[in-house]
Amino acid sequence: MKKNILLIHTGGTISMQINNETGSVSPSDSNPILGLSKSLEKYANITEIEAFHLPSPHITPNEMLQLRNLIVESSKKSPVDGIVITHGTDTLEETAYFLDLTTNFNFPIVLTGAMRSSNELGADGVYNLVEAIRVASSEDARNKGVLVVMNDEIHQAFNITKTSTSSVNTFQSPQYGPIGLITKKMVHIHQTPVTRRYVDIQSLEKRVAMLKVYAGMEGDILESILHLKYDGVVLEGLGQGNVPPQVAEGIKCLLDANIPVILVSRCFNGIAEPVYGYVGGGKMLEDMGVIFATGISGQKARLKLLIGLNQVHKPVDLKEFFN
Ligand code: ASP
Repeated sequence: MKKNILLIHTGGTISMQINNETGSVSPSDSNPILGLSKSLEKYANITEIEAFHLPSPHITPNEMLQLRNLIVESSKKSPVDGIVITHGTDTLEETAYFLDLTTNFNFPIVLTGAMRSSNELGADGVYNLVEAIRVASSEDARNKGVLVVMNDEIHQAFNITKTSTSSVNTFQSPQYGPIGLITKKMVHIHQTPVTRRYVDIQSLEKRVAMLKVYAGMEGDILESILHLKYDGVVLEGLGQGNVPPQVAEGIKCLLDANIPVILVSRCFNGIAEPVYGYVGGGKMLEDMGVIFATGISGQKARLKLLIGLNQVHKPVDLKEFFN
C-alpha cells in the first residue's frame, strides 16, 4: 500500500535555477521543484508544503524551530507515514541535527538536497528527492532518528557532514559511514542508532558562539565573547582536545563568568577526550570545568548547547547532556 508522505520544501540549490548568461545560481520567483508531487505519486501519496524558499546560509535556528513546530502540528492534524524535507546543502546537517534532537517520532524524517540546480546538466535534485521519498516510505527507516539521503546513501543526522564544495558525493559520515544505501530495487539499512536523545524546545532566546582553535591563538578573542554577551561557547580544539596556554586563560575568564565552554576536536575523525595534563591540555581544561562533547562536530555541539541552554523552564545538566 502507498504511504502518506508530507513533503516540505525549504529552498536551497534543489529549488534554484542557473542563469545561463551570467552563470549565477539563485532562487527564482517560483520554486521549480514545487508542484512535482503529481509526478511523484508513483512512489507515495504526497502532500506538499513550501515552508521557506531560502538559500540555506539564510536558515537560522529560528527557521529550524519553525520547521520542527510545523512537523509537530502537521502530523497531529493528519497522521503521516514519513516526512521529506528539501533543504540547501550548506547547512542541511545543522537542520537535520536540530530536528533529530527536538522531535520524537517513530516515522522517518528525511532531509535531501542537490548540488546542481534544477536546470543544470546532471541535476541531482529530483533523483535525490525520489530516493528520499522511497526511504521515508520504508518500514526499515522507522525509529532511526532524522536521516539524510543523497547520492544513493542514507546517513544519520548525528554524523553527517558536507565534505566537498561541489561534488554530488559531498555528504559523508566520518568515522562511521552511511547507515544504509539505496539501489534501483531496494532501500537497505545496515546500522541502527544505539541511543536517541529528545529535548522539548519552545523558544530560542540564548546565544551560542563557536570558535576554531589554531596554533598561536590568543585569549583576548574569548574575552570578547564575554563582552558580546553570548550565553555559551563551543571551541573546536586541537587534536585530542587541547588549546594553546593563552586560550586556557581566556576560557578561565568565561568559566569565571558562568559561561559554559564546550570542547570538540577540529579533527575530522575520532572523539575529543581529556587526556593531556600540560597547560592547555584537555585534562587541565576538564578540571577547570570545560565540558567535552562526545563525537559531534563543532556546528552540532553549538546547536546542542543552544538547545540545552534554552531549556529555561527545566534546566538541563550540561555535563550529563553532552555525555
Ligand atoms: N548554497 C546552497 C544552499 O545551501 C547550496 C546547496 O543547496 O547545495 O542553499
